[in-house]
Amino acid sequence: MKTEERRAIALDQAQSLVAALARPLRTERVPLAAAFGRRLAEPLVADAPVPAFARSGMDGYAVRAADLAGASPARPARLVVAGETIASGVAEEPPPIAPGEASRIMTGAPLPPGADAVVMLEAVRMEVEGGDPRAVFAGPVRAGLNVTPVGGEISPGEPLLAAGARIGPGEAALLASFGRTRPLTYARPRVAIVTTGSEVIAPEETPAYGQIRNSNLVMLRALAEEAGAEVVHTAHIVDDEAGIEREIGAGLNAGADVVLTSGGVSVGDFDVTGHVLRREGRTLLFNKISMRPGSVTSAAAQDGRLIFGLSGNPSACFVGFALLVRPALARMGGRPDFDLPSYAAQLGEDFPKGGAFWRYLRGWTAMENATVRVMPCRGNRSSDIRSIREADCLIAIPPCPDGLPAGTIVEAIPLGPWRE
Ligand code: AMP
Ligand code: MG
Repeated sequence: MKTEERRAIALDQAQSLVAALARPLRTERVPLAAAFGRRLAEPLVADAPVPAFARSGMDGYAVRAADLAGASPARPARLVVAGETIASGVAEEPPPIAPGEASRIMTGAPLPPGADAVVMLEAVRMEVEGGDPRAVFAGPVRAGLNVTPVGGEISPGEPLLAAGARIGPGEAALLASFGRTRPLTYARPRVAIVTTGSEVIAPEETPAYGQIRNSNLVMLRALAEEAGAEVVHTAHIVDDEAGIEREIGAGLNAGADVVLTSGGVSVGDFDVTGHVLRREGRTLLFNKISMRPGSVTSAAAQDGRLIFGLSGNPSACFVGFALLVRPALARMGGRPDFDLPSYAAQLGEDFPKGGAFWRYLRGWTAMENATVRVMPCRGNRSSDIRSIREADCLIAIPPCPDGLPAGTIVEAIPLGPWRE
């Protein structure tokens, strides 16, 4: 590809071009246990109170708080122990307690009518009076102690999860609590990964001089799966236009909604992926972005599907995924309004390197004395690999001629799964 064919566009422009094509996919009901990482296609609204019965939060004695009103160590209250121990899981409402009575009750069990508090077991002394057990209380308690009332956590009609919510541990627990064992979800976006490069060999092989192991393929697979996608096709191919075209086609035939390629998008003699993105039937969206690393990140559209040309340099490939592919997958997966989250932080050290492009440094976040600081990782070249492992954010450094001093407030984009 000739250099003059490339015009750099701003990252947010590139993101908008991708976003316009990244529409949520079909919906389907799946077993809850298979739904992690998917997004809900329907909201969850409470159809019952939680808890549905007044519930003891302790192993102890259910009492009427009024019966313990004047109790003290010197003048303890003695209550008649009425009925059987109330266990959780009983099918019937426990018998009521009358004034002067207490019932032994276990955690999670329904409170007997008449009781309004539970005193923990450890705070109750047992005595026997004329052969009958008495529970002895050395002090008063407030009504409601250790009791969750009906609807104490959730009232009927409360909205709990919005459509588009990503199903993680908390969402799964809420769905299960309301019996939604086959939630309506968006399909996982299907992803094909095609790495390129004649010098790149499979990780299980031993490199000859000048060869390197393919780290991008598994990295992109991990990133795609972390983003909730399903990988349907992978291949590695030498720098050969026909071969790359064939593997992109194989990915699309395998049902890929998104094809990721790595390598071959620079201006080198063997960089042929750029040509592939301009083939007939495809619309090139962009082939240069004013950012570093990953300025060569490219994208094309074909029949509503997206093909990304990511850099072969591992960190540039990673950053291209984080800033462009990740939001596209989130939108296709059921969050059409998805935008990358970010937080403001103090730059933890001087960054001396100025430049005309935005720079997205792999960084790590430190919280000290109620201050959020972000530190650039050591090894921030686009060819580096270790900093991918060490980073928890991308630090956005705006274009600046002389770099930025420590303490400058910058935006950081968190990496990995986050609350959405
Ligand atoms: P390219 O984008 O093809 O010019 O590649 C840029 C650099 O990334 C070169 O040093 C390649 O050897 C390296 N590279 C390309 N593909 C991979 C890969 N799959 N895994 C690791 N490094 C790669
Ligand atoms: Mg190459």
